[in-house]
Amino acid sequence: MRHGAKLPHYLRSVRIIDTHTHLYQPAFDGDRVEAMARCEAAGVNTLLLPNIDTASIARVHDMMDRWPDRCFGMMGLHPCHVQQDAWEGELGTIETALRSSDRRYVAIGEIGFDLHWDKTTLDIQHVAFERQVAWAKEMDLPIVIHVREAFDAMFEALDSLNDSSLRGVVHCFTGNLEQAQRVLEYGDFYLGMGGVSTYKNGGLDAVLPHVPKDRVVLETDSPYLSPVPHRGKRNESSYTAIVAQRVADLWQGSLAETAEITTANAERLFRLNQFQPKR
Ligand SMILES: [Zn+2]
Repeated sequence: MRHGAKLPHYLRSVRIIDTHTHLYQPAFDGDRVEAMARCEAAGVNTLLLPNIDTASIARVHDMMDRWPDRCFGMMGLHPCHVQQDAWEGELGTIETALRSSDRRYVAIGEIGFDLHWDKTTLDIQHVAFERQVAWAKEMDLPIVIHVREAFDAMFEALDSLNDSSLRGVVHCFTGNLEQAQRVLEYGDFYLGMGGVSTYKNGGLDAVLPHVPKDRVVLETDSPYLSPVPHRGKRNESSYTAIVAQRVADLWQGSLAETAEITTANAERLFRLNQFQPKR
């Protein structure tokens, strides 16, 4: 396919970044190359890949190696994988990957709090979060926060850990305006907007028009949480363009302007100019 051949004319100069995608997961083992081509056709030229646990590390590395100009990895332990007995070993492996000189990661992620599936691990989720935040400060990397039914836990942790050396994003933000403003008050923090912004009951139509445009980044969280009209089906990174259009509508702006602003935000937060060749 000729570069950009499938791109509608109004999208040809648009550059969109999917700041949170698990395209490395088995859900894409059958058509990952095609999914990457669909990204290019939709103007989604950069993908940031959050790690989940020790089993996913090799998959993240595979995509970083295969598409070194388009795929950038993160390293971290997801709160759902902070499990009794296993979590310290997993964190050790993740720390080894982070400190290895083989690869550079754009963030510590994804880390955070999840009380949807298991409330019994809250104590160790706090310890794992604190340890990973310390790495982020030491290595001058942003944190990518997952929070599900656990805003109180996240705020409690950030209230005590945040300082001027910390920056990050609350990915797949689903909170209300008050919670959004509280996140932004931490300083160099951003809100990650994904498919939920397209849901009628998602509540983000009451948030997005009221937050500063320079604090929003786009994502899919694929293969989860597909935007309308793909809701309920597998999500993929090319759909970041749908999220961009939805955010543009809520901002009453153009897709091109929204893409430009959110891409600049992502490049600033993740310091992508240190990773990407000049375009
Ligand atoms: Zn994720």
